[in-house]
Amino acid sequence: MKRKIKEDIALMGKRLYERRLNGGYGGNISVKDNDMIYITPSGVPKDILDYSDIIVMDFKGNIIEGQGKPSSEMLFHILIYKVRDDVSTIIHAHPPIATGFAIAHRPILEPVHEESVVMLGKVPLLPYEVTSSKELAKNVGEAIKEHNALLLANHGAITVGDSLEKAFRRMEELENLCEMLLVAEAAGGAKRIRAEKLKELFSLIKKRNK
Ligand code: 13P
Ligand code: ZN
Repeated sequence: MKRKIKEDIALMGKRLYERRLNGGYGGNISVKDNDMIYITPSGVPKDILDYSDIIVMDFKGNIIEGQGKPSSEMLFHILIYKVRDDVSTIIHAHPPIATGFAIAHRPILEPVHEESVVMLGKVPLLPYEVTSSKELAKNVGEAIKEHNALLLANHGAITVGDSLEKAFRRMEELENLCEMLLVAEAAGGAKRIRAEKLKELFSLIKKRNK
């Protein structure tokens, strides 16, 4: 199996911790490579991972390489890859400010910050379901069809991307956005970007991506 992918996942565990996007025993990271999923082991703090800790499994959850158990959230990781062909990386984390919004049961549905609109779009809130349950995986598998970032009530957040970097930047953007919203509230309340300006923004992005 590919050592580079394992090293990149272990490094991402450290980056998430250093950026205060994840801590303790929380979170999990995976990368899809052809018909294999590289995933963090269960119950290990993500900042002390070594590349050799990373588990390789197939889409049925059979372990192909690695010691220990794969993440207890492997169900939703598998499901996301099944419903999103364009996704090759998943980060689940417990970033403190975004998770505060998840604890308050506050989705982020209004376009209030340009970069967040482009990077994240709407961030829905999924109802609380117990960690690693089939119900949680089912809700995640449904919501991720239309979104790149999710809030899990009373739990944390998920971001996806076509690279580890993209999924990381989305998690960072989500945490930044929640912090900005808190300040906006103290400063008089967030105001949304006008609909016609949003249209302009999206056509600009479309042109740039051509
Ligand atoms: P794992 O260590 O099993 O991946 O679980 C961490 C977590 O955040 C569960 O939601
Ligand atoms: Zn979690």
